[in-house]
Amino acid sequence: MEKICAIINSIMEELIKTKQELERTKTELGILYEVSNAMRTTLRLDEILYIILTGVTAHTGLGFNRAILFLVNEKEGLIEGKMGIGPESGEEAKQIWTNIEQEKMNLDDLISAYKFSSGHLESGFNKQVRHIKLPMRQNDGGIIALEALSGLPLHVTREIMHKYSNDPLVQLLKTEELVIVPMKSKEKVNGLIIADNFITKEPITKDDIRMLIMLGNQAGLAVENSQLYEKTVTRAHSDYLTDLWNHGYFQAILQKELETTKATKSPLSLIMLDIDDFKIYNDELGHQAGDAILKDLASLLKNQSRKMDYVCRYGGEEFTIILPQTDKNEAFMIAERLRLDIEKHKFIQEEILPKKKLTVSLGLATFPQDGLTPTELIRATDKSLYEAKNKGKNNTCC
Ligand code: GH3
Ligand code: MG
Ligand code: MG
Repeated sequence: MEKICAIINSIMEELIKTKQELERTKTELGILYEVSNAMRTTLRLDEILYIILTGVTAHTGLGFNRAILFLVNEKEGLIEGKMGIGPESGEEAKQIWTNIEQEKMNLDDLISAYKFSSGHLESGFNKQVRHIKLPMRQNDGGIIALEALSGLPLHVTREIMHKYSNDPLVQLLKTEELVIVPMKSKEKVNGLIIADNFITKEPITKDDIRMLIMLGNQAGLAVENSQLYEKTVTRAHSDYLTDLWNHGYFQAILQKELETTKATKSPLSLIMLDIDDFKIYNDELGHQAGDAILKDLASLLKNQSRKMDYVCRYGGEEFTIILPQTDKNEAFMIAERLRLDIEKHKFIQEEILPKKKLTVSLGLATFPQDGLTPTELIRATDKSLYEAKNKGKNNTCC
């Protein structure tokens, strides 16, 4: 009898264990399902990254305290911090988690909240993460580079953490334990997810890591799709010859930047630039030679402009530069600097031009004094350019 009881007890225990495992698998599948569904609703990279990290940190998701996402920038051989989510202190954590509980927010609600708030993007932690750029080399990129290169997950436990005390990532996180999993697009690693339990100090389990690996695989594909989409959009907005923004996109940015300018009550300037006597160059040397000049000039304009400015090909041999938050004096200085850079630059066979060198004329207008709408500003810039040509070319008018 006793023996039978023992057998029944052991069967019951087995059943309970199996049931618990089933429950856990069901939850895990539910999380993966919800995250992949959410990722399918958008192609915007920042939204995809946020969805992934919400899946890693939400209590109804994997429940890690903090998560960071790095992307591989193959062109520059770097691994760049893109987004970090998580509280900076125990107090902040308590506040966030209580709020989520009170509002009864599930994974879906947390993800939707992103579209209406950018609060988390202003967090100190996220800013710190976005500053990290590590070389993708075994010796000087730290554990991050090692993981990106090996494509295997790494669990840095309490026992081995001391080996990495000088690592830039460990120094940022100041954590006792962390896990890194690769994000994979086809066969390549295109990013990494790093997670830890910095506040609760809960140990990271094998199950946590298994789930994170599955999420990493999904995330890698979603990121790849989004990057392909962004590349296609950029191509559609670019000029085929010069690679600058094309006319259609110029109009769209000008409209958008003017709206921001009005809202923030700041100035905005517009420069229009036209090559002097370019017809002569084309007539003498042919259109292909002319095209080479346009390319050369475009890269000069792009290299000599500030990062915040939009350099566009307006059409033919005319270029525009949108200068947000720039008043007339500053824009005039920028325009003159560009003009002199062009005058000094050695363009191929420029000596066949009347002045023996290639020059440009520039027109300039500023919001609000010269125009309030895109059309008014373009008209004012065009008028200034016309004046610059009338005054003998190779100068700037505003
Ligand atoms: P101005 O100093 O008054 O500007 O004289 P211009 O000869 O430059 O005249 P305009 O600005 O009207 O320039 C028109 C010429 O620019 C016509 C054509 O030879 C050349 N051009 C326009 N678009 C292109 C282009 O895409 N490729 C090439 N190679 N040449 C172009
Ligand atoms: Mg012209
Ligand atoms: Mg011209």
